[in-house]
Amino acid sequence: MSGFKKTALITGIAGQDGGYLAEFLIRRGYKVHGLIRWDSYVDPQDGLKRLSSLGLTDASMTLHHGDVTDAQSVAALIKQVRPDEIYNLAALSQVGVSFTTPAATLDINTKGTLAILDAIRLLDMERTVRLYQASSSEMFGSAPAPQDEHTPFMPCSPYGVAKLAAYWLVKTYRDAYGLHASNGILFNHESPARGEDFVTRKITKAVAGIEAGSREVLKLGNLDSIRDWGHARDYVEGMWLMLQQDVPDDYVLATGQAHSVREFVERAFEQIGMHIVWSGQGVEETGRDKRTGRLLVSVDASLFRPKDVHHLLGNARKAQDRLNWLPRYYFDDLVADMVNADRVLLWREAGGDSAWKMTG
Ligand code: NAP
Repeated sequence: MSGFKKTALITGIAGQDGGYLAEFLIRRGYKVHGLIRWDSYVDPQDGLKRLSSLGLTDASMTLHHGDVTDAQSVAALIKQVRPDEIYNLAALSQVGVSFTTPAATLDINTKGTLAILDAIRLLDMERTVRLYQASSSEMFGSAPAPQDEHTPFMPCSPYGVAKLAAYWLVKTYRDAYGLHASNGILFNHESPARGEDFVTRKITKAVAGIEAGSREVLKLGNLDSIRDWGHARDYVEGMWLMLQQDVPDDYVLATGQAHSVREFVERAFEQIGMHIVWSGQGVEETGRDKRTGRLLVSVDASLFRPKDVHHLLGNARKAQDRLNWLPRYYFDDLVADMVNADRVLLWREAGGDSAWKMTG
């Protein structure tokens, strides 16, 4: 007997959700294996910083080099690990980047999922393994808000299209071959571990930098995009709950509250005692400190997406009713957590206490 309750394999373990999920599963007595790309491991200080900042080390889990687009190595890994649960989080997850690398987006986000589904079949593991697929609210695209499991999908980006194809593959394999495979249709979820190229983290890093005097102005694209933002810590619990159900299914996870990028900016600056006053329109719009008139925010036309989703707002009623899932963090708590974490990070980089951990 190994002493572990169950074995989980997480693809994309070095990403935001991967770290929180690994931490969550280890606390529940799981043996956790993670698939990471080779270049996530080149510089452990950088590539695996999310895992180490959650207190996760090589000793607490087993990491395997690989790539979800390499179907044979994915199958070999699943055969070796023989997981009870697979969480497929690996993805090219930046919607904006998917416009410049659409083919790679489809390879990773769609064919990567197919590689896992086929491996489960070929290894005759349909009855022994459960699969979580990281689907996305970006699949709804321009469908009117609020969106739930019955809303028609109208994706607006290569990312949304690739995730939608993977979603349908999961449903098709579930229906055709009896796989225990579930799609989590997750609305935006953020945390102090969010990648620095995502708008929320860009904002909170800049706010911390402006407070510390190391940054001048925050440049942003579309200030009027509206998103339903939750905390990754809540959402990984929802992923796990989906795989604990007797019957696989698809679930929306969302807070049910929508806020604009503009509101995110305002709330983030409020954390450091600054209040933003907006003036001008479109690319001429600026945000200034109400007290001093100092320029803090400007709009950069190059940061607009070729096509943007304007209003995502989720209805997670099904997950509440069937999984008993409810978020603990809402907008204000999320923004406060992220800004405070970036303030501490800056302070640490300047030589403060290195024992600081994520606060989430
Ligand atoms: P993330 O931080 O970007 O993590 C994605 C991970 O996938 C990264 O660690 C990345 O490796 C890895 N990866 C990329 N290409 C790979 C490949 N070819 N083979 C193996 N691994 C690969 O994203 P996240 O925020 O944690 O999101 C997790 C999943 O949920 C993603 O599938 C995302 O699309 C989906 N999702 C996220 C949200 C959200 O708001 N966060 C909402 C809905 C759905 P590197 O670290 O080496 O780049």
